[in-house]
Amino acid sequence: VTEKLMAVAVIERIDRLRARLADARRDGQTIGLVPTMGALHAGHRELMRQARRGNEVVVVSIFVNPLQFDRQDDLDRYPRTLDADVGACQSEGVDIVFAPPAAEMYPDPPLSTVRVGRIVDRLCGQFRPGHFDGMATVVMKLLQIVQPDAAYFGEKDAQQLAVVRRMVADLNVPVRIVPVATVRDGDGLAMSSRNQRLSREERPLAVALYRALRVLEASVAAGETDVATALRQATAAIPHDERLRLEYLEIVDEHDFQPIERIAAPAIAAGALWVGQTRLIDNVRLVPPGR
Ligand code: AMP
Repeated sequence: VTEKLMAVAVIERIDRLRARLADARRDGQTIGLVPTMGALHAGHRELMRQARRGNEVVVVSIFVNPLQFDRQDDLDRYPRTLDADVGACQSEGVDIVFAPPAAEMYPDPPLSTVRVGRIVDRLCGQFRPGHFDGMATVVMKLLQIVQPDAAYFGEKDAQQLAVVRRMVADLNVPVRIVPVATVRDGDGLAMSSRNQRLSREERPLAVALYRALRVLEASVAAGETDVATALRQATAAIPHDERLRLEYLEIVDEHDFQPIERIAAPAIAAGALWVGQTRLIDNVRLVPPGR
């Protein structure tokens, strides 16, 4: 009972976080990290729950990382709801919220960054220059700061998950990366902090991307192996509406995210759809019959 009543600690400084975690580690406690940019929703909560089940100490980081935004307007408009976020962490039994100011994470513009090759060539990497370098760099910093036993990432950002996994493997970072299935709203729309930006009129349109991905999933499950054919069918499922603009819809290899022509093994179908001024992404795993 007392543990449930323990207030979540909100820590802004790296040295204070390290001191707190050193105590936990000395006591033999395992540490789970959930990196986020805040504006927490049910998707983040699922990551927290899995972290809670798997570790003695759970740290949620909340940091809107300027390094991974390719557009200043997107950074400026990114939702920031720290008080509500701390409340959500508290109710999920999180021990520590690490919410550093930008100057704490970047006292100087970093001269050392992490770039993962190849996996970032397509999809979001192609349309958001520098995004994955900024993301990989901040994730590496968070892993160095927290030194968790496990870190939790959503499959909703499949390319991000692949980049993080590869970075951790290539650079021998001693952490277990735990993937968490995408949490969706009732109509199937993937939960996202950016959904907050959708107007009431835009919200029902936003599910168009997931519907297109479901068309792909169904046609591959029914035996379609030709990527071009499958993509044509799926693209046709997106309604003609001036508020909708498909940025990309692609099928890639599930390990290195390179484009493929035939679906002979499990693959990732991923898309980015603009709904008005809001850019949404989603993906599904395609599994050919018998695999
Ligand atoms: P973000 O705050 O958007 O950077 O997301 C933080 C973490 O939550 C990332 O690992 C995301 O993949 C994950 N995440 C975001 N939305 C969802 C969702 N709908 N389902 C599962 N995980 C999610």
